Amino acid sequence: MAVQQRRNSKTRKAKRRTHYKLNAPTLVKCPSCGEYKLAHRVCANCGHK
Ligand SMILES: [Zn+2]
Repeated sequence: MAVQQRRNSKTRKAKRRTHYKLNAPTLVKCPSCGEYKLAHRVCANCGHK
């Protein structure tokens, strides 16, 4: 197993973590009841696909 030789700098850590960003879920209006729901998911309010 590889053993790390030196610790990563603050900058190097920050550069790696640029990919960490979580994007907000896409909300669409349910065509059946008009409630906001997650895209490609069953509506939590009425169960419409
Ligand atoms: Zn609905």
